[in-house]
Amino acid sequence: MVWDTDEIEPAVAAWEQKAQCERLRCRVCAMRIPYGDRDAYFRTKMCGYCAHQAEKKESDTPCREADPFISPGFAGGSGPIAA
Ligand SMILES: [Zn+2]
Repeated sequence: MVWDTDEIEPAVAAWEQKAQCERLRCRVCAMRIPYGDRDAYFRTKMCGYCAHQAEKKESDTPCREADPFISPGFAGGSGPIAA
């Protein structure tokens, strides 16, 4: 099976050039953003690795600070809160 890379490579090259010109770097580790990490970069301003670590850290962190201002019926429309 032949995978057609002709459509991929120009896009990668264009991204590399843009990343270099615009100094697109991860705000955590300052590495240049690879083509495959651009979605993560636009969401988080981080490379895929740091974005993943940040998300993991966030979801692993136990909720130790309960919001004292939250009251039943106040947060209408936000849906059920997952424990
Ligand atoms: Zn990073």
